[in-house]
Amino acid sequence: TGDGCECDQCYHGLDCSELMSNCSVDLSSGTPTLFQDYWTANLEASAAFIPGNFRLGYSDGNLEGLESAVRKLHATVGNVNMDGRQLVMSAGSTQMIFGLLYAISAVNRENGFQGKTAVTSAPPYYNLYSYGTKMESSELFEWRAYADVINASAPSINFVVSPNNPDGRLGDPEFPPPSVAIHDFAYYWPHFTAITAEADYDVMLFTLSKVSGHAGSRVGWVWLRDARLAEVLRLYLMIHSITMSHESQYRAIKLISAITDGYASAAERTASLTGFTPQAAAAEGRLFHFAKLVMQNRWDRLHSVLGTTGTDSQTRVTIQALPPAASCGFFQQTVTPSPAYAYLHCRLATDPDCFELLRANGIVGRPGVVFGGDSSFVRLSLLGRESDFVLTLERLKTIAES
Ligand code: PMP
Repeated sequence: TGDGCECDQCYHGLDCSELMSNCSVDLSSGTPTLFQDYWTANLEASAAFIPGNFRLGYSDGNLEGLESAVRKLHATVGNVNMDGRQLVMSAGSTQMIFGLLYAISAVNRENGFQGKTAVTSAPPYYNLYSYGTKMESSELFEWRAYADVINASAPSINFVVSPNNPDGRLGDPEFPPPSVAIHDFAYYWPHFTAITAEADYDVMLFTLSKVSGHAGSRVGWVWLRDARLAEVLRLYLMIHSITMSHESQYRAIKLISAITDGYASAAERTASLTGFTPQAAAAEGRLFHFAKLVMQNRWDRLHSVLGTTGTDSQTRVTIQALPPAASCGFFQQTVTPSPAYAYLHCRLATDPDCFELLRANGIVGRPGVVFGGDSSFVRLSLLGRESDFVLTLERLKTIAES
């Protein structure tokens, strides 16, 4: 099995080869276990050993090592313009999202705005934005529907995600000032989309979770142009958690260094994807080649079962149309998008609840309504284990042919 101690979901037996009857595959969460095989092939390069006397204090030797590893990662990939920006680190981008909502709306108050800053995102949007904003019940900000905010002149916060979770679309527009766009670039990495330019915005959010797969280590960061915003955000993070876990920092430095070491030369970055298998890419320590090949292969197999939307999609369940192929500055070749999620559509009026149709066929996704979409859509994560993906494909085929 992937982690050596338990079987993949839906399998059991001594060698984990027996399929359990009536087992649903759960693809509802974006937990990125596809990276497990890569790290299994790179154990030594990525291992972090932490002795008992390592950094006991709150902030002894804090953050510099991680910050320089993150800078090197972006310099290697070429996905961010770091000039004139401050880097702020936190325990995952989830913590940063709430820090940013606080900091942006608190700075709006400092600048004389009396009301609550509206928070929004164009549907379908990542569900945490709306759930989390509502749960905060803040005096400073509140969740509002996109259509109500788009033409308003009051300050607002607009989450722009590219490629988007759940549907992989690229580059929603910003609203004009005084709105602030939080550009969430959780998925702006070469395995999901072409790196077409260095992103160059005021607020750019990143997470280790979807780069290396270490979602449980809780490492996120943001690039900020505004110094006052960075100051208020740091205060928020200090009050909420004092500092990031030193163990997380240490592990993240090891992992990120293992990734950048694999791409020390330009030749390593631009090695043709077609010349590689995922296994060979993992053996050579090239994480982005590995992950791109796995993701691309999953999309190819999905398209062969469900067709390509906009052309031949007459199946009962269709898949979202992807943005066109584009030239990737990292791989130095044209790549087709391979986003993290399939956003399925049950196109028949007789299938109003797509989540239920899939569930009845042994696939648990995340229903479209939670993303501000409707119940004819379901999101499936493509970031899980191969065995789950294979079962899912078989079951999608059964639905498509029904
Ligand atoms: N933003 C987006 C768009 C995401 O999809 C996710 C994870 N699903 C996050 C942020 C949160 O990531 P993290 O693990 O860093 O909290």
